Amino acid sequence: MSLLEVQGLHKSFGGVQAVQGVSLRLAAGELLALIGPNGAGKSTTFNMLGGQLAPDAGRVLLGGQDITGLPPRRLARLGVGRTFQVAETFASFTVLENVQLALLAHDRATARWWRRASGHRPQDALALLAQVGMEGQAAQPCSALAYGDVKRVELALALAGNPRLLLMDEPTAGMAPAERGALMQLVQRLARTRRMGVLFTEHSMDVVFGHADRVAVLVRGQLLAEGAPQAIRHDARVQAAYLGT
Ligand code: ADP
Ligand code: MG
Repeated sequence: MSLLEVQGLHKSFGGVQAVQGVSLRLAAGELLALIGPNGAGKSTTFNMLGGQLAPDAGRVLLGGQDITGLPPRRLARLGVGRTFQVAETFASFTVLENVQLALLAHDRATARWWRRASGHRPQDALALLAQVGMEGQAAQPCSALAYGDVKRVELALALAGNPRLLLMDEPTAGMAPAERGALMQLVQRLARTRRMGVLFTEHSMDVVFGHADRVAVLVRGQLLAEGAPQAIRHDARVQAAYLGT
């Protein structure tokens, strides 16, 4: 059975049919890249899988369980994690709690309190940091980190929910080409060892063709092609609609 099975998703915004019958499958441990031109419906698809948008029609199954239209909070508990293109809010906290967390993080007295309170069992957090290769920088303030390292910390935050399915919206956006490969190798290793499925959108074709196990091409709300990276790369329709320049 597939880890993720997406069946005939539809979403319109007024007169715009953003997603028109998209179906996808993703196995545990597999990396699937969702690519396509601007306005193709990638973000809309992603938002329906992450619970930010409810589909007009279609179903989403996770491990055979119908999770269609569930809110992010419920999805997180069922094993759907997400990273964002830019550092984002903690999705499972309310708006108020997000601002409270930010206040906590910025208040020096609570920061001292937190260090005392959290100092007893840092093992779990350190183990997660080790998984993303950041244990050596555990004591650094995040503001002192290089951008690629911030991305690794973000990944550790997502792994804290122990996701079965990880949705990554342009994981390498803003990174230097040399850093991209290293991050995606890490994602690939984590997917394999944790048996975690990863669905990601990506503009860098080096990342897509270098690191995805399969590639799905979305054009005008519909899947144009899906398959192994090499087959997609040489597909004449994909060349014409997206890759060919
Ligand atoms: P992509 O991520 O592939 O660039 P999107 O999913 O963002 O594409 O957009 C698909 C289509 O839906 C576009 O025509 C876009 O203008 C439209 N669209 C996306 N979100 C909204 C929205 N919230 N309201 C109205 N139209 C939207
Ligand atoms: Mg988008």
